[in-house]
Amino acid sequence: MANVKEVYRKPTAFYDEFFRKPDEYKQDTHYCPGCTHGVLHKLIAEAIEDFGIADRTIMISPVGCSVFVYYYFDTGNFQVAHGRAPAVATGIKRTNPDAIVISYQGDGDLAAIGGNNILQAANRGENITVFFVNNAIYGMTGGQMAPTTLIGQKTMTTPYGRKAEWEGYPIKISELLSTLDAPAYIERVALTDAKNLMKARNAVRKAIKTQMEGKGFSLVEVLSICPSGWRMTPVDAKKWVNEVMTKTFPVGVYKDVTAEREVGSWARKLEPVPLEKYHEILELEREAKEIKGDMSKVPEKFQNPEILIAGFGGQGILLLGQTLAEAGMRHGWNTSWIPSYGPEMRGGTANCHVKISEGPIGSPVVDNPDILIVMNQPSLERFESSIKPGGLLIYNTSMIDIKPTRTDIEILPIPATEMADEIGSLRVANMVVVGAVIEKTKILDPEIVLDSLNTVVKHKKFIPMNIEAIKRGMEYVRNYKG
Ligand code: SF4
Repeated sequence: MANVKEVYRKPTAFYDEFFRKPDEYKQDTHYCPGCTHGVLHKLIAEAIEDFGIADRTIMISPVGCSVFVYYYFDTGNFQVAHGRAPAVATGIKRTNPDAIVISYQGDGDLAAIGGNNILQAANRGENITVFFVNNAIYGMTGGQMAPTTLIGQKTMTTPYGRKAEWEGYPIKISELLSTLDAPAYIERVALTDAKNLMKARNAVRKAIKTQMEGKGFSLVEVLSICPSGWRMTPVDAKKWVNEVMTKTFPVGVYKDVTAEREVGSWARKLEPVPLEKYHEILELEREAKEIKGDMSKVPEKFQNPEILIAGFGGQGILLLGQTLAEAGMRHGWNTSWIPSYGPEMRGGTANCHVKISEGPIGSPVVDNPDILIVMNQPSLERFESSIKPGGLLIYNTSMIDIKPTRTDIEILPIPATEMADEIGSLRVANMVVVGAVIEKTKILDPEIVLDSLNTVVKHKKFIPMNIEAIKRGMEYVRNYKG
């Protein structure tokens, strides 16, 4: 065997065995016989190997026939929601500028549900590479009309052929995106004969190289055959691409400004922002007070709390949550805050989820709170059952006529709206409750909470009234004999 010279082998950017495949055929792909997805995979894998970038390449697979790209490529892999590959690619690339991020998408994914995603990513000139497989049909779901289906082409949903008057015209992605200023390189190729394959090979390499050189957005539209969806043999399908499909989708370079761009000019390397700059950006006039929090000193049932706050829009629900989250952060803990509200500016429903944790926070969503704060009756009716057994319910008796029914939780009623009225504004009822939370749970240092108002309260003239409300809430709990 010593004299045997290797002339042909699988690119190293592919796994030797496709171990992620659930069936026993670990050497075969899941694609239909004759499908050219595999050919494009190979061209990409060869380029990755030749450029020596496998350890920093991240492939993003879409929804569609190529959903299982991660079975094959021995690179980083993400499988993302339908049409959202360019958005995910943007996030990955901007946070990992040295990664080579490749978005692999079909026509249903990219040109239909993900149409705006690709348009915006291209328009921003994201330094990513997109391989867009155009086979003029929805293959995976059984051959329905795609945005790229040709006029007259028969599909499951256009059995008499696509008609422009009914279904519009095929969307020409390369032509469309090449009208934008930002993209660096856009070419359409076809996976048919040897000549076209060589062009496709060069285009794949050029697109990846464009990203490696930090010159911005590159996209290769690949006319690929779908023998199953088209009901053709692979040979006839390739002939059809050359003779019919390329009339609507001519192959060629649609945009190439790579020679005019400096290396690295679109790389968007993130520079770390110094702390003082954050203060400037957030218009923080003074140093924020911070302390090193010690969660072990918090009563056990309130350690690492998950909090759900609910009420009407306009009751300051979100600000209540922000105040707790900001103060939690200033104790050196991880915090999360997510709002959820209806479209109404006032009077609709509003709730927010807050987590304060010594350890990392996975999901910011709070389904079963340790602490539930409800400011109106519908919120009590809706969320009371969700509190963890042994948890705490704080409810605003000024706005709630009924009584909670749970007997396995601790309940703290507080006439927050009436107390706020006495202070001078109904709008500080939320801060009365903040005071109640501080005093009742001992999670947060009161001084830090009061200082946090400088960050979360927009109109500084209202800060004294908010401080007064917090103090009144604390006092109420101290005197409460429930
Ligand atoms: S349905 Fe078409 S595109 Fe999908 S794997 Fe089969 S031949 Fe390829």
